[in-house]
Amino acid sequence: MPEGNDQNALVLFSGGQDSTVCLAWALEHFASVETVGFDYGQRHRTELDVRPHIRERIKALRTDWASRLGDDHMIKLDALAAISETALTRDVAIEIAQSGLPTTFVPGRNLAFLAFAGALAYRRGIKHLVAGMCETDFSGYPDCRDDTIKAMQVALTLGMDRRVVIHTPLMWIDKAATFAMAQEIGSDPFVDLLVEETHTCYLGDRSRRHRWGYGCGTCPACRLRADGFAKWKAEC
Ligand code: ZN
Repeated sequence: MPEGNDQNALVLFSGGQDSTVCLAWALEHFASVETVGFDYGQRHRTELDVRPHIRERIKALRTDWASRLGDDHMIKLDALAAISETALTRDVAIEIAQSGLPTTFVPGRNLAFLAFAGALAYRRGIKHLVAGMCETDFSGYPDCRDDTIKAMQVALTLGMDRRVVIHTPLMWIDKAATFAMAQEIGSDPFVDLLVEETHTCYLGDRSRRHRWGYGCGTCPACRLRADGFAKWKAEC
């Protein structure tokens, strides 16, 4: 089976806290790192808007990271929004639906992301994908489960007849441990960048600044981030 370049990685980079930690993790582990983002008709574009700022700040933080950080790619997935009826793409309340899943769940989203990232990596000769899925704090999203990701790795490897490795460095850690990992990788300046520049709030609110960053402070994503930050601060 032909192999992509072992030194290169493609990071699924949304502009959120988790994918930014994954980007730093990749910059520590690979000689050349590219990023990919997806525009799937999100209700707000805040995450997409902060992406270039984060990349610039990451480059300014360390010269070795600047030399390793390569191209950014943006893929439009309008079709995903067209077939979705969720709180992230429509004006639907954020709550638990009858299915038992949060209304923020976009069916097939991460599967589509990984399929397109795999296709892009193939074209770029990249073997390693890095993504921020997490089973610990995962809000019940079935496409964040380790088994789902491993099944996608097998599907992509077989379907493209080229070895694909999907790394999920956050899979088994909670948000507090994610802050700890950020501190370990890039110390205080990187944690500051994470707090100041990354965006996780489902409502796209950047008008309110908390100790843990910007957000409405009440949506599930904000609560997870706030609780994780508080727990990490209490432990360190
Ligand atoms: Zn929020």
